[in-house]
This record gives sequence, C-alpha cells and structure tokens, in this order.
Amino acid sequence: MLVASVTNLDDLDKIRDLADIVELRLDYFDIDRKPLFPCLFTLRKKEQGGVREILEKERLAQIEKLLELQPEYCDIEADTDPVFIERIAKKFPKVKLIGSYHNFQETPQDLDALLQSMKNPHFTIYKIAVTAQSSADMLRLMVFARNAKVSISAISMGEYGKPSRVLGPIVGNALDYAGLEEDASLHRYSLKALHEVFHYRKLNRDTQIYALIGDPVEQSPGHLFHNPRFKHNAAYIKMRVTAEELPVCFELIQKLPFGGLSVTIPLKEKISPYMDEIKPIAKAIGAINTVIFRSQKAIGTNTDGPGALNAIEKRRKVHGKQLAILGAGGTARAIAYEAKQRGAIVSIYNRTPERAKQLAAEFNCSGYGLDEPCSYEILVNTIPPKSLFVPPILPQTVVMDVVYYPRETPLLKAAKKLACQCIYGEEMFTEQALLQQLEWCK
Ligand code: NAP
Repeated sequence: MLVASVTNLDDLDKIRDLADIVELRLDYFDIDRKPLFPCLFTLRKKEQGGVREILEKERLAQIEKLLELQPEYCDIEADTDPVFIERIAKKFPKVKLIGSYHNFQETPQDLDALLQSMKNPHFTIYKIAVTAQSSADMLRLMVFARNAKVSISAISMGEYGKPSRVLGPIVGNALDYAGLEEDASLHRYSLKALHEVFHYRKLNRDTQIYALIGDPVEQSPGHLFHNPRFKHNAAYIKMRVTAEELPVCFELIQKLPFGGLSVTIPLKEKISPYMDEIKPIAKAIGAINTVIFRSQKAIGTNTDGPGALNAIEKRRKVHGKQLAILGAGGTARAIAYEAKQRGAIVSIYNRTPERAKQLAAEFNCSGYGLDEPCSYEILVNTIPPKSLFVPPILPQTVVMDVVYYPRETPLLKAAKKLACQCIYGEEMFTEQALLQQLEWCK
C-alpha cells in the first residue's frame, strides 16, 4: 500500500487519488479530528527525524490522546517503553501499530538481529528505514525484506536508496512511502512518478526487475524509455554501482527477481567474469551493455553497435561507404565492429593514435591521430563532450554524435550549418534500448 507523507493538512485533497493511506506528521501540525481518509499518525521524536523538541513523557501522552481519534495506523518507535505500547494496544485495539526504526547514518550489517530487537507482539508492521551508503546496502535491505517472515516495510534512504521506493511492492513491503513532490533532499520519487513512470499499482512479488547499473546513471533516460514499453510484469530502475561494488551488488542482484540489466561505464568490461554465457558480438567487442537472466543463467550481449548502425542505416546504408569514427574507446569499438560486419570501410581517429591503430588492426580497418586528414561519407563521434573537440566537417555527409547529453552537441550544431544529415545520440540510445527489450522479452 502506498502511504503519502504530508506535513501540511492542505495537501490532503491532492493525494486522495494517488495514495491508499495518508501519514500525518503530527510533529509538524496539530489536529482535532481524523480526516475522512485512512490515516497513519506519526509523532516522531527529534532523534528519529521529528521536528519538535518535546519531552518523551509529553510525547507519549500526546500520542495516547491522538489515538482517541482512531486512526487506522500509528507509527511508534520500536524502542518505545513496552509498557506504554501494551497500554495503547489494549486501549485502542482497532489501531494497527507500526513499530519503526530509523537510521540516518547507515544500514546496519545484521538486519535479522535488528528485526529481532524490534519484536513486540503488538506490532502489526515493522518499518525499517535505514540509510544506504551504497547500492549494495540498498539491495541487501531489499533481499532481507523479500525473505522476511513478518509484515515489513523496508525503506532505503539516501541517494543510493532511491530505487527501493520502486522495489517495495516487489519485495513485499506492506507500506511504501512517497511525497506529493519529488524531493531531491529525501531522494524520493513523487507519488505521480511512482504511478506514471513505474506503474506502482501493477507491481507485485512476481514483477521482474530490470536495472541500469554503472556510474554515473542519474542522467540516463532508461527508466523513461523502458518502463512504458514492457509487455510483461516488469519495472526498470537505475542503480549507481561502482567497479568496486560490482562483485557484491551482482551477488545480491541474483537473489532478487531480476530479468535483465543495462550496463554502462565503468562496468561494460568488468562484468564479463560474472556471465555464464557471452554472445559472440559481446565477445568480439570485449564489452557487455546488456545482461539477460534466463533459466538461472546470466547471459551477456551488446546492443550498442547494432543500435548505432540501425540509426545510421535509417538515413544511409553503410555497405561500401567510408565511415569515420572519432574516438577509440568502448563505444567506438562496438560501432567499428558492427560497421565492418555491415560492409562499411571504417577508419578510426583518436587523441592517442596508438589506440586507434591497435583497434583498427583488430577489426581490419585503418587508425589515425585526430589531427590527420579525414575523408568520409558518414562520421560518428564517440568523444565525450567535455573534450570540446570539433573536427573539420564535410558538407552534406551523415553526421552522428553518440553523446546524448547535451542533445545538441557542438559537432551537430556545426554539421547542421553544412546541410549534413544529423543523427542525435538519443536515436542511438533508442535503437540500442529497443534491441535490449527484444533480448529481454524473447
Ligand atoms: P571511453 O571508452 O572512455 O572512450 C572515450 C574516448 O574519447 C577515447 O577514445 C578517448 O581518447 C577520447 N577522449 C576522451 N577525452 C578526450 C579529450 N579531451 N580529447 C580528445 N579525445 C578524448 O568512453 P565510451 O564508453 O566509448 O563512451 C563515449 C561516449 O559515448 C560517452 O559520452 C557515452 O555516454 C556515449 N554513449 C552513448 C550511447 C548512446 O546510446 N547514445 C551508448 C554508449 C555510449 P584516448 O584513447 O586518447 O583516451
């Protein structure tokens, strides 16, 4: 169930169609009657995120008084005096008590021990809201929640915890929390985003998870692209995973119902050892941008090259044409391989000429430094925008920039002026992502 947290009673009308329960943060405001909507009352102590400095005795007295309004739920810190908990449980048997634990610093290592320490026969739901210092922390909490034997609400807080807001129904959370607006400081999706982007109401324990992993991932439009396209019960999230965290994150991913991964820098090469099978295209390129989990196996493939070439060939067939690539990194490699497969005459230009020559030798094409003369019918840039490098552009050629942020790169701006056919990075993104969908949904 989705809980809308409000710190202002005026917001109640705005959340009615978006949430199942409203959490009234009674440390922010007072009420004298219960609104006509399922309610969860919370009067936090300061150390657990409350805004009011209030003596514990007085706080408990206020909670007891508030419960006379008969909310459906009341959040009470699990370490609250058990005598008080027993008294309110008996006095207000219709109010379901949520025993909560908040940690604004970290995710405790032993979550089983934590849950054990919170146990109280009067709690209906256990809320564990802890801060993730890494995606591994977030995944660890999600695995714990999915295996929990009691009714639980596991919330991973902080930047790394953001995907847990979507994973809640998949791991079996009794309650998930969201605000009216997306809150950057709380790293929380808005209620609207949970419904419109992630189709929250359709998510359940059978949903297959798909995720972009790598670092950075924030600017990727992957979640906006994939979520509306799935034909099966699926959700696509983004997880910031560094190379150091990959081993532990991959192990945890395998404990959750993942259907596949999109892989970005710096993990495209590093993920290979974790695969049970690598498709020939990814082997030839030496990089994986797509993982498919099927029949207990992790299968790696690469859709970058075919995606880029599909975008180019919507404008011009490459067979027999001169195709120049700027850059000799992972993306250049994927594009060079696929362009050769489709019969293009490929040349590679790079800041470090030796790297261009080395790649060219591998794929039987030619390699040069960036300052050498360049003739082509199709030009593909893979050099990141921070370089500010713009090569001489030949008029009326096809020019593609794989960079998709910013959309209008200096190269494409200059190419437009020379009547070139411009292909934006987002087109390559779309094509390679469509191929990922095909791989995942076979
Ligand atoms: P990479 O492996 O790090 O390669 C980067 C290349 O750029 C290298 O050849 C490097 O040259 C060159 N370079 C870097 N800084 C430079 C500078 N200041 N001046 C000149 N050359 C410079 O990166 P990648 O994985 O290929 O990714 C490249 C770009 O493609 C990224 O911006 C990524 O977001 C984008 N991308 C887009 C899509 C899409 O779907 N549109 C898909 C994949 C990647 P040296 O060899 O001399 O270091």
